[in-house]
Amino acid sequence: MHTFDAVVIGAGAAGLFCAGMAGQRGLRVLLIDHAEKVAEKIRISGGGRCNFTNRDAGPANFLSANPHFCRSALARYTPQDFIGLVQRHRIPFHEKHKGQLFCDESSDEIIQMLLRECEAGGVARWQPCSVNAISDGFVLDTSRGMVRARSVVIATGGLSIPKIGATDFGYRIAKQFGHKLIDTRPALVPLTFDAGQWAPFVDLSGLSLEARVTTGEGKSKGEFLEDLLFTHRGLSGPAILQISSFWSPGTPIRLDLAPAQDLQADLAAAKNASKRKLGNELAEILPRRLAQTWLAGKPDLAEKPMPELRDRDLQALATGLQRWELTPSGTEGYKKAEVTAGGVDTRELSSQTLESQKTAGLYFIGEVVDVTGWLGGYNFQWAWASAAACAQALPGA
Ligand code: FAD
Repeated sequence: MHTFDAVVIGAGAAGLFCAGMAGQRGLRVLLIDHAEKVAEKIRISGGGRCNFTNRDAGPANFLSANPHFCRSALARYTPQDFIGLVQRHRIPFHEKHKGQLFCDESSDEIIQMLLRECEAGGVARWQPCSVNAISDGFVLDTSRGMVRARSVVIATGGLSIPKIGATDFGYRIAKQFGHKLIDTRPALVPLTFDAGQWAPFVDLSGLSLEARVTTGEGKSKGEFLEDLLFTHRGLSGPAILQISSFWSPGTPIRLDLAPAQDLQADLAAAKNASKRKLGNELAEILPRRLAQTWLAGKPDLAEKPMPELRDRDLQALATGLQRWELTPSGTEGYKKAEVTAGGVDTRELSSQTLESQKTAGLYFIGEVVDVTGWLGGYNFQWAWASAAACAQALPGA
């Protein structure tokens, strides 16, 4: 029987970080992952350059059934702390957009950094290795033998991208130890529409433009001003990935396709100043493909010279484009989702240490927990912060 102070299951972002930090505190740590390769999700993140944090990350950038839960961990391990680590490892990085920090070269540099931190902590890593069962008192039956541990840390992430190793292991262990789960769903994911409903817009596939997108009301309202991308099956791009986390099936999203403009005023002004046809005029105000597609079913309107158009037709056109309400039929699912919303109910975890309030010595960190960040480096910041809170609390020998 192998004996460790802590066994961390899942060698992704949260697991690697937690194992390294706990090891450097002097704990004997074993890190287990069933996948052949280490931290594949970090590797594919940020288009291969890993958006490893967001300078401005704070509790307001996270969704959870228990919105205050993430405060403590985020306050005690900040984006600046992680930036300091990246700088100590001499990894060049840059800020891209709205506080998002990316590696200049490759996300592999973050993986290598985390592996070096594990090495510095003397962490044992078994990979590939599967865990068949965890019994009370923490005896683990693994494919490499039996292991006894004082603490077990579940860092097996969410359900997104099953082909690189995502499983429901963490949720099953949570249930085994009596934890409640908040229903999981794909988040940061493209939205899809019924083929019939989407047919008029299929030709726009590949078109990208800035848009304001909103959904929901009151406390559950989401609103983002970001780029939107038309696809064959629906909508994608940062604006849609962001709003997908707030979207509930069966409800509409609202789009303003010209957020920097007052289209009603612009079209009224054009009616007085221009003798061109509406189709040509609109193609000056909006991307040409969008203008053409939008007016495709209304040839009598598109062909009419501006002065001959009725005010109410122009108003309806402006409203349609700036308050476009449409109801997605679904999402592209876990196959394409960047994260999984929902997960282990935080009301049964300590916000200081991420320890189970039901079973002493059992911890849940990272994406398996019901804390979901916006797009833009927030999910990794949660992985680092929750891992640090846990690593500092794990008891030694
Ligand atoms: P993971 O990093 O997913 O690690 C979980 C680990 O557990 C994996 O190694 C897995 O093999 C292992 N595991 C699973 N089941 C088992 C099992 N049964 N037994 C043993 N091991 C198991 N976030 C950002 O902040 N910035 C980005 O740029 C960004 N880009 C992304 C791009 C893509 C395409 C995707 C899919 C996600 C992206 N994310 C990004 C989200 C981010 O990758 C995750 O939120 C983060 O990796 C979660 O960390 P984690 O350690 O909790 O889980």
